[in-house]
Amino acid sequence: MADLVLASRNRKKLVELEALLAPLGYRLRLVSEFSDVEPEESAPTFVENALIKARHAARVSGLPAIADDSGLEVAALGGAPGVHSARYAGRHGDDAANNAKLLAALAGVADDQRGARFISVLALLRHADDPVPLIAFGAWPGQILDAPRGQRGFGYDPLFLDPETGLSAAEMSAEAKNARSHRARAFAALLAQLPQP
Ligand code: IMP
Repeated sequence: MADLVLASRNRKKLVELEALLAPLGYRLRLVSEFSDVEPEESAPTFVENALIKARHAARVSGLPAIADDSGLEVAALGGAPGVHSARYAGRHGDDAANNAKLLAALAGVADDQRGARFISVLALLRHADDPVPLIAFGAWPGQILDAPRGQRGFGYDPLFLDPETGLSAAEMSAEAKNARSHRARAFAALLAQLPQP
């Protein structure tokens, strides 16, 4: 097993990525094992934010590190909340407030204007000064519902309709979400570049 540090404090993301990485022989460690400091994710792109997080995790752990920067882009809102998804309503990670704000922003918007996509960018650094980071991108197209559906998942999952299954992301089993999600798609793209341990 090769150790890989995940630059995230989001346990749900850890579980999702662990399920994808364990069969490949990678053991995920959390950055919180090594440091309590959280780098500021203030860059305007998912790519830069993923790199900031992965570089910090590699630096504090001395191990290779992987980071996911993700978010939701809503076409009718000009791509918002985008890189601000986690703190759309003000406080980082307040899912209920973020979902309420999204519903309010889309009040009165017709079904055929509610297109959205989840975005995930994964960055993998072999060490903190790695000059050739691996970067992979994944998108999951869907639509924003006008009321929450389902109890699973996290973040905007209850408001995100997957048109192919007719289910919200919060109505899917973890396996079903892992087969379709933006992170799974980014992960598949990363895999093609990843050395086997
Ligand atoms: P990050 O942890 O800085 O990448 O912030 C990502 C934010 O985007 C999360 O806090 C969620 O609000 C949202 N997000 C990303 N991936 C998902 C997902 O799979 N389901 C629901 N919301 C997500």
